[in-house]
Amino acid sequence: MIQHVLCYEHHSQMRLSRVLLKIGEKSWQIAAYVCEKSACVVRYNHSRGYFITTQDGSPMEGDTVPRISCPQDSQLMYLTEVRPQQRNYRLWRCPGCNMSRTNEQLSRASQA
Ligand SMILES: [Zn+2]
Ligand SMILES: [Zn+2]
Repeated sequence: MIQHVLCYEHHSQMRLSRVLLKIGEKSWQIAAYVCEKSACVVRYNHSRGYFITTQDGSPMEGDTVPRISCPQDSQLMYLTEVRPQQRNYRLWRCPGCNMSRTNEQLSRASQA
């Protein structure tokens, strides 16, 4: 059960829509969450995690796309909560088992 998916760039709530995905010669519509900012190309769905596409629907590689996988079932987690007063706080949730973890748990070892 996916609830309250946030765009990792804008921290705005994403809504379920259909987007064009083009791989090689084939293109088709898939269900995915899209950002409310019209120019934003960030998408999320449970099978691909966060991804970005070009105008024609081709997936783009992006260094900034977060790929946080769930330690229990390896599904790609989505950002569900940020706190304006805690600049580095991120809460990620798994679409499969609903487990959540903060970025502090993720990178405790690499905290400066
Ligand atoms: Zn966005
Ligand atoms: Zn999980």
